[in-house]
Amino acid sequence: PPGRLHALADDLTARGADLVRVLWSDLHGIARGKEIPVAELHRFDGPGLSFCQAVMVTDLAGIPLELPESSGGGWADAHARIDPDTLAVAAHAPGTALLLADVTDSSPDHAPLPLDPRGLLRRQTERLAARGLHPVAGPELEFYLLAPDPAAPLGWRRYSAYDTAGYTVGAAHDPDRLLSLLIRECHALGLGVLGGNQEFSGGQFEINHTHGPALRAADRAFLFKYTVKEIAAARGLRATFAGKPFADAAGSGQHVHLSLVDDAGANLFADPAADGGLRDLARSFLAGVLFHAPALSALLNPTVNAYKRLADPGALAPATADWGFDDRTAYARIPPERGDGTRIEIRGGDGAANPYLVIGALLAAGLDGVDRGLTPPPPLAPGERGGGPPLPGTLRDALDALDGDPVLSTALGPRFTEVFTAMKRAELARFERAVTDWEFHEYTGML
Ligand code: GLU
Ligand code: MG
Ligand code: MG
Repeated sequence: PPGRLHALADDLTARGADLVRVLWSDLHGIARGKEIPVAELHRFDGPGLSFCQAVMVTDLAGIPLELPESSGGGWADAHARIDPDTLAVAAHAPGTALLLADVTDSSPDHAPLPLDPRGLLRRQTERLAARGLHPVAGPELEFYLLAPDPAAPLGWRRYSAYDTAGYTVGAAHDPDRLLSLLIRECHALGLGVLGGNQEFSGGQFEINHTHGPALRAADRAFLFKYTVKEIAAARGLRATFAGKPFADAAGSGQHVHLSLVDDAGANLFADPAADGGLRDLARSFLAGVLFHAPALSALLNPTVNAYKRLADPGALAPATADWGFDDRTAYARIPPERGDGTRIEIRGGDGAANPYLVIGALLAAGLDGVDRGLTPPPPLAPGERGGGPPLPGTLRDALDALDGDPVLSTALGPRFTEVFTAMKRAELARFERAVTDWEFHEYTGML
């Protein structure tokens, strides 16, 4: 009988696509994948497209981690199983359709690979669904566009002639109208784009996304980051979601708005009669997130650089695990909307984090708060700053916090946590051996 990909291939041909880009996320959130002629798509039915597991855990220097157990000493196959529900047809690459895949191992029953970020998030949504709770997420992503410039210290300058931009749109800060192009293209891709603007600093942009079921929201954020980088790269530019690419300019956040709905889609965080309009369920979820905030940093702020965004006072990025009503200095902000819009905005994460892991880890933390019926500390008082316990100040502290949080580590999957932290500790070790420009400037003149 024709496999499930036959109908998909017919649909793609009808839409004018002759190539399919099958994408999945590695641990960093980098899109890995393969491009396939639509005419050959049927060959990837069954377990899907096979590739080397090292792809999932190669660090940013291209060094794969040793995974002796899963590889039996060598590198075993993983399989990317196309999810036809994720189809998006791109205008920036004519004739090319995008499809996301779930990653499984090479055992006869093709079990989900514990290292698949999409699988990790799916498991968290299933744990919540077993309690009749369905997570809704809305990510907000900030990023910089950079232009090549041989005169700039590292060969790249901010794509804007101005230092500050602050919520403007138009040619002054965006001579090539790239923001318009990105909004148009990402909207056409079905990425839930609502609008976009110049952010605080010149060359920095924000594009807002509508909320949706958590897995779909993460899929969109993942494809959004990929698409923005693709469109920039095709023009000789670079887009970066790194948390603090410039010491003297705003950091880039990855805020996530979260709520829970019931089987009928009714918001379960809202209670007009309750204090602050928040049901106990919302408070317990929030308390779980705050309780696990130190360990969450390893997933929400997974780079050496991320901690420089959080350390910048007045940058609207939190350094302490606190919460407040419509307070942008807090780690968790309760936006003013109530009713169906009742939600929690987690402001700690930065753009470089993997959206699947950010949302998955936040759900795991919130669920623990719900299961244990935790109560959050009091909210920040108006004007109060930094009311809660300090967040980890370095990647090392964050990884130690995750290792020291058995509830979160277990919820994410022991194998996942082991490999993720090993990969990040290897990155940290490379950084600690590097000699930076700062050290050269600071120490070679006078000493
Ligand atoms: N750029 C800030 C951050 O690093 C957020 C600014 C805003 O509230 O949009 O998270
Ligand atoms: Mg913003
Ligand atoms: Mg926000």
